[in-house]
Amino acid sequence: MISVTTDIEKYFYDIHSLIKSFYPEEDVLVFVKNSRNEKSSENQISIDIEMTFEQGEISMTIFETDNAQKRGKIRCDTMTSEENGSSNSELGNELDTPKNALKKLIYDMLSKETGKVLPWGTLTGIRPVKIAVHLMDEGASDEEVEKYLKNVYYCSDEKIKLSLEIAHTERELKKNAADGNGYSLYINIPFCPTRCAYCSFMSSPIGLWKGKVDDYLECIHKEIKEISPLFANKRLDTIYVGGGTPTTLLPEQIDRLLGWVEDYFDLSSLREYTVESGRPDSITIEKLMAMKNRKVTRISVNPQTMQQRTLDLIGRHHTIEQTISSFKMAREAGFDHINMDIILGLPGENVEDVEKTMSEIEKLCPDELTVHSLAIKRASRLYDYVEKNGLAGMQATEKMMDIATKSARKMDLSPYYLYRQKNISGNFENTGFGKKYCLYNCVTMEEWQSIVALGSGAVSKRVFADGRIERNGNAKDVKLYMDLIDESIAKKKEFFGEEK
Ligand code: SF4
Repeated sequence: MISVTTDIEKYFYDIHSLIKSFYPEEDVLVFVKNSRNEKSSENQISIDIEMTFEQGEISMTIFETDNAQKRGKIRCDTMTSEENGSSNSELGNELDTPKNALKKLIYDMLSKETGKVLPWGTLTGIRPVKIAVHLMDEGASDEEVEKYLKNVYYCSDEKIKLSLEIAHTERELKKNAADGNGYSLYINIPFCPTRCAYCSFMSSPIGLWKGKVDDYLECIHKEIKEISPLFANKRLDTIYVGGGTPTTLLPEQIDRLLGWVEDYFDLSSLREYTVESGRPDSITIEKLMAMKNRKVTRISVNPQTMQQRTLDLIGRHHTIEQTISSFKMAREAGFDHINMDIILGLPGENVEDVEKTMSEIEKLCPDELTVHSLAIKRASRLYDYVEKNGLAGMQATEKMMDIATKSARKMDLSPYYLYRQKNISGNFENTGFGKKYCLYNCVTMEEWQSIVALGSGAVSKRVFADGRIERNGNAKDVKLYMDLIDESIAKKKEFFGEEK
């Protein structure tokens, strides 16, 4: 365990995430100084951080188990003029904010302490590319963005290059999506064939919902009927049916659901229509044809790995052959925009496993490849395993990332969106590569437009004209969602009502 004491509560999250990136296997606890007895024999190290605003100085002390101490400090000239650490977080003006100075100090000291260099430097947020996009929108050149990401955040050359490439693509995609008239529709199907060990979504095996799935769909029908009129004068750009695994539905259920979408929403300007098919063991030709007939343009067939022993270990009850045959079946059904997801850092996987996965995927030539680094979430079964056994044999490495990236390039796929997660393996990122891009992925990540989200656990997002963003979520539990459907619809109507 690593315990950290500090005198400013405001930066708890930043302190925690950065220290955790250096020590992924340790519990990191951050306390306000003197709030409790933080010193414990279990501590690997203890850290004390002091921010002296009057003197514009931040100091940090590392207490080792053998009582040795290491001290460091950094000056921050903007601190003295700001009350209690409030900072001007405008981009372009961040070189010397208390937050960035604090993170630089932590980074420098822990990098020395551990010998580690983090690919994203001090950046711990979910959307690192947003910084590059924003600077470019403000007129910065590539060289200026590069210098900024290096000096302010210590990003590696490789991650800077990646950010620049994605930022250029995203700015092109944004042109027709962020004009204030467009919106997206999301529908959640919270059922899967079985539950994968790393899954943290509110999704349950469809077998447990026998006889109830039609009732669930009727609730979505109700939402569609009541909410769609609010968007009669808006342009529907993208639809994403996700989950869970929407293809756990029967072909006639898929047809019914997509039929309601067609009946109530104006699809005349639609640019993209995804039904996340995900698990290869849920795909049949009847389901593919039901989607094709309803004008779905994009699907996912997700291998995660092409190593059978790993699939068995993580509870994905399908075979490699099923992945290959489902992909081929989707091509034959006429889908020309198919994504495949893989995960790096799966239990027991090494570089050779990733090489095998990529060589199998190359034979299929998907139009998109999403490369995830394993993230261990509290709600997953894998979390309990890691609590007991540690992270041994479960690390995404630079070499693995390199193999996946080179393979994506070989298939003519270029990076177009990227996000990071808490507790992500190797402190890497998830990157979407494509020769065709998924606009919805960018919309959710970069918040260019409102999203109407239907179904259990679905969170609608409203992007206001002044840039404000608000959220409205349906109940996560499927039964509760069905019980509260009228109430949720009333709340959603109010949420998407007239802009005040
Ligand atoms: S297929 Fe996806 S949503 Fe379903 S259990 Fe596996 S990880 Fe979770």
